[in-house]
Amino acid sequence: MTKLTGRCLCGTITYECEAELESMTYCHCDTCRRVTGSAFNIGVGVSRDSLKVSGEVQSHTHTNGSIREFCPMWISSIHDRISIRMDSCGKHRQ
Ligand SMILES: [Zn+2]
Ligand SMILES: [Zn+2]
Repeated sequence: MTKLTGRCLCGTITYECEAELESMTYCHCDTCRRVTGSAFNIGVGVSRDSLKVSGEVQSHTHTNGSIREFCPMWISSIHDRISIRMDSCGKHRQ
């Protein structure tokens, strides 16, 4: 069991999570590169019920069905809710 805490850039949005880490991903897709402004996005997977977010987030639903939640003040990304997983070659799969 791992406890994670964090906040957005301005501190308006906070989150905490105490869960088993289910996966770790490095995604190089177009969306992740545009959101991060870098070559890839790093993420860890946890159960949705274990993540508690405090504060009013805005969200964007991507065409692939994933939902990205972010702080409206600084457009600071908080987390993504996805129903897809990466295969061992780094490609999205259902
Ligand atoms: Zn913020
Ligand atoms: Zn991606």
